[in-house]
Amino acid sequence: MKKYFIDKNKKNIIISIAFFIIFAAATFIIITSKYNMLEKTINDTNISNLIDKIQSKIDYNHKFALEYSTSDEVYNFIENRTSDYIYKNFREGSYTLEDVDLSYFILTDKENNIKYSNFTRDIESIRRGNFSDFIVDQLKDTKKIKKIVIYENEAYYLCKTPIYKTDYENTSNGFLYLGSKIDEKAIKELSKGFKNIKFITNQEAHIQNDKSSKQETINLKIKVKSKIEDNININEISFYNHKSNLLFTIKVESEIELLNNTKELVLIIFLFLVSISIFTLLYISNKYKKELEEQYNSTDKIVEERTYEIKVAMKELEKVNKNLYDIAHTDFLTKTMNRRNFFIHAQNNFAIAQKNKQLLCVVMIDIDNFKKFNDKYGHSIGDKILVLFAQKIKKNISEKSIFGRLGGEEFALVISNTNLEDSIAKAEKLKKKIEEIELIVEGNALKVTASFGVSDNQNCSNIDEMLQKADKLLYTAKESGRNLVRSRLNFC
Ligand code: GH3
Ligand code: MG
Ligand code: MG
Repeated sequence: MKKYFIDKNKKNIIISIAFFIIFAAATFIIITSKYNMLEKTINDTNISNLIDKIQSKIDYNHKFALEYSTSDEVYNFIENRTSDYIYKNFREGSYTLEDVDLSYFILTDKENNIKYSNFTRDIESIRRGNFSDFIVDQLKDTKKIKKIVIYENEAYYLCKTPIYKTDYENTSNGFLYLGSKIDEKAIKELSKGFKNIKFITNQEAHIQNDKSSKQETINLKIKVKSKIEDNININEISFYNHKSNLLFTIKVESEIELLNNTKELVLIIFLFLVSISIFTLLYISNKYKKELEEQYNSTDKIVEERTYEIKVAMKELEKVNKNLYDIAHTDFLTKTMNRRNFFIHAQNNFAIAQKNKQLLCVVMIDIDNFKKFNDKYGHSIGDKILVLFAQKIKKNISEKSIFGRLGGEEFALVISNTNLEDSIAKAEKLKKKIEEIELIVEGNALKVTASFGVSDNQNCSNIDEMLQKADKLLYTAKESGRNLVRSRLNFC
């Protein structure tokens, strides 16, 4: 049945599977490429956001520097007029720099001699004198600048502005240097778009140009290198100064979440399509199975019905055959063997007896004066006498005995394995039994008798000879007055 289904639907199944594969592959390609692009855009946006924020952090530092450098208090402090300013802003225990997110604050006179410097504690822990000298030294040739510098493997924003009074009437009497530290913590605060951020100084970028882009901000050159490894988007953003010296690199990593989620989505779609395909195939196969089962069942039913009909017909035929056989072999009135049947059986028995050298006797029986019954009471009474006569004899011989009606009111009996004397005795016994037949017609008790001729197979070569002999003996019985048994023994 399965094979039948596959053969019948081979084309449909192949087309469905091919369509399903193409559809699944196309879905996968479209969705992945779309999400790949989106992933790339998000990554690029995150990078440029980070660069923008670093740039605005310099601007923020610079804005501060401008604000502080145009202050009468600062100007007066450089002029040595008052030390109130320092007390007010940087007295011990205050966290002025931390509060404004700066790392250092240095004031110099016009000749760049340091007048005052203040640092957050992490810078203070390194040699503060050297750090101030380094900063001032970096920028002493320029009056106003904003940039990034590296000091002892650490990066700092750096802004320098001249100090003026608020009315700008006087010329500048010194310079203000300030800035904040750029470290991993600071970068992490700038961007939440990346899963991992590593801040590296004094080190060349590791990514060998998988994908690289260049940007420039004021005084800074920026190079971005990207690659994808194990579903992770890795980017190295390298910052260079105006002399193209590498300042620092920010290595950022982000998981390709969208793409990974997309793969899950594609897998779900794939499984969904597989489920639908399997369901459809099962549905079709089930439908065909049912159809076939119905066909088989109806065929079975038809076969069953036909078989039953044939069986009934066979039984009928058997019955008819048996009837035909009976009709062909039985006398319709007395239900004994008919002449033809009697001769066949008698001849068989004769042959067996001859072969086995056994004795065999034949008795011919004829109802006496039967014609008179017919004439006096009619044929139906004659028939009735025939039936009663046959019944009486059958009752007194064995069931297997060969007994038949040869015609009219003449009957014959074959007795196997018996000598003549016993057969005569048997005939005598039958003669007496016939006399017992009781039939009252029109108030008269009819007296039925019969004459018997008994022959044996001595000197006989077939059954006909035996019957002829018995018939002759029967004739003698009639002649001798009827209701007699005659055999060759009567004539010895
Ligand atoms: P016998 O004692 O010499 O034998 O005299 P019988 O009258 O018996 O013999 P016969 O041969 O003269 O008569 C036989 C009669 O049997 C003649 C015939 O009409 C009658 N008969 C033959 N067949 C049938 C039958 O089937 N039914 C009836 N009712 N009568 C039959
Ligand atoms: Mg007769
Ligand atoms: Mg007769």
